[in-house]
Amino acid sequence: MTLSNFELDRYSRQLLIFGEEGQEVLKDLSVVVGGVGGLGSVSTIFLARLGVGHLKIVDSDLVSVSNLNRQALYDDVDVGEPKTEIAVEKLNEMNPGVEVEGVQTEITEENVSDLLREADCFVDGFDNMEARYVVNEECVERDIPFFHASCSGLEGRITTIVPGKTACLNCLYQGKDTMDSGPIPVAGFTPAKLAVMQVEQLTRYFLDMDGVLMDRLAIFPKQKMIPDEIEISRNVNCDVCGN
Ligand SMILES: [Zn+2]
Repeated sequence: MTLSNFELDRYSRQLLIFGEEGQEVLKDLSVVVGGVGGLGSVSTIFLARLGVGHLKIVDSDLVSVSNLNRQALYDDVDVGEPKTEIAVEKLNEMNPGVEVEGVQTEITEENVSDLLREADCFVDGFDNMEARYVVNEECVERDIPFFHASCSGLEGRITTIVPGKTACLNCLYQGKDTMDSGPIPVAGFTPAKLAVMQVEQLTRYFLDMDGVLMDRLAIFPKQKMIPDEIEISRNVNCDVCGN
């Protein structure tokens, strides 16, 4: 897949880092983002600007007023509209060179296989563990990376799950629901920070660069800006990825 003159110009500053070959790898990627809220509306903006070839965004929600403090894709006029519809429109305007597809649905055990059929990877934009476990299992099944992030209050977590190589989400949390019930306390900068890190993780992973958080969980504690990093490891008896 070669780059047009326009693309060489458009991506010229990052070509200085990735080279044309790197940009072609990105252009060839099909990325699925589940949940276009605080995390997903920022990751999709940077994935579109980065120039991934195909972006599928999946969310069942409508934009509500209380989303606007953090969900960077939406404005006041979008309240009441389906998130995927607004997201597709805005991401198309941002970068018409990216094929953006919106699917207005929840990701469930029934539809996950179909939704991830063409995917090279999945970017986590969820606000609940149930959907994360469903996708984790499918990513293990399909042998594609799962770029996980989650946050609550000022705390955030991020790791890159590579089936067969790293712990999966179930190794990490054993199927437990780690989220508090009720509305998650959140200001815009916490998911935004994690979402750009997810996009960087994806880039580093597919371009074979160092710094991928494999078997490492970066945790931003609420008291400080710099994350702690803990090592995690695969559970050979894991129900999802174990032997
Ligand atoms: Zn596992």
